[in-house]
Amino acid sequence: MEANLNTSSSHSETPNSAVVHSATKTGFLNFSRPDWTQYFTEKKIPGFRSTQAADWIFKHFVTSPDQMSNVSKDLRADLAQDFDWTLPEIVSALNSKDGSTKLLLKTPTGQYIESVILRYEGRVSLCVSSQVGCKMACSFCQTGKLGFFRHLTTHEIIAQYLIAARIVREEGRRLSHVVFMGMGEPLDNYDNVVKSVNMLVSPDGFGLSARHVTVSTSGVVPKIRDLAKDARCALAVSLHAARDDLRQEIMPINRKWPLSELKSALLDYQRETGDKITFEYILIREKNCGLREAKDLMKFLHGFKAKVNLIPFNAHPGMPYDRPSDDEIRAFQVYLADRSIAAPVRYSKGLDVSGACGQLAAKTEESIHLAPARKNVVAGKTPNVLA
Ligand code: SF4
Repeated sequence: MEANLNTSSSHSETPNSAVVHSATKTGFLNFSRPDWTQYFTEKKIPGFRSTQAADWIFKHFVTSPDQMSNVSKDLRADLAQDFDWTLPEIVSALNSKDGSTKLLLKTPTGQYIESVILRYEGRVSLCVSSQVGCKMACSFCQTGKLGFFRHLTTHEIIAQYLIAARIVREEGRRLSHVVFMGMGEPLDNYDNVVKSVNMLVSPDGFGLSARHVTVSTSGVVPKIRDLAKDARCALAVSLHAARDDLRQEIMPINRKWPLSELKSALLDYQRETGDKITFEYILIREKNCGLREAKDLMKFLHGFKAKVNLIPFNAHPGMPYDRPSDDEIRAFQVYLADRSIAAPVRYSKGLDVSGACGQLAAKTEESIHLAPARKNVVAGKTPNVLA
């Protein structure tokens, strides 16, 4: 399928009065700190009061004006009146044996998205979705099979962070990393993703380190160049093949932006930011992990400061691919290591709880479309942290 790409342009940490004055209420998480400052300035509310109110959101993760205990009753009433405080509903929270938690969320428009909390020894990371479904139709991806429904708003993207941050806080830990590797192509929803990234990394937003927020793209070439100027974050690229005929078989986006154009944009990105780029490479048996493909990859990587994550394909029903043997994985890795390319093997987390991207939402959509009476079949334990 030819990727049908919307490539509108952006920017992020500037106040957004169009949002303030829209006819319908805007989600409170659509507002960056400068947006809040403008809102309070227009209401002639003194600076320290506006700082207090915004701190409740960015520092204390409140989900309602009622929780802003040192804010006046009148101002809380204004905030309740002027903004939409609805968050996506947690339909299920499935805990994996490996310590990850897969959240299935239902948007107010009745669509399903997924976020995954990934717990490691020294950090906790969140994988967020940027769209409901996806246009890119990558052949190994469950979300790609769903098709595209719509972009998520900034509010819906940041809500995933807020919901997970509250869960993690209950455990006495801090949600320190965010990866845009859930459902959707982040750079196809450019404006909302860039605004979200800037809110996450801004010191007067959620204050995460820019190195700890990663945007992963399948290769939306024009937006890669824009991203270098518009956001501070890390960049990962889903490569999966370094030869055009093979890559376009696996990833249809390669027909629109072939490898030569992708490489040129990435080299520009690297020149502009000075950052190392991470390449994600799913290893698929008898498809992209032989000696020829390893040589193609080395050729493509020439000129980059790069790291490659090797991810053995996780075989699951309905997918035409298999996982390579351990020997094949090792041989591919050694070929790269012998040529000074760091290529750790990463194993997908949460496989026992439908860990592949889009698997849970696809299951849920299927259960709704095929058997309406089974709508709640995936419902599990829902953490009560939003009260
Ligand atoms: S891998 Fe990413 S870009 Fe490709 S179809 Fe899946 S969600 Fe979309």
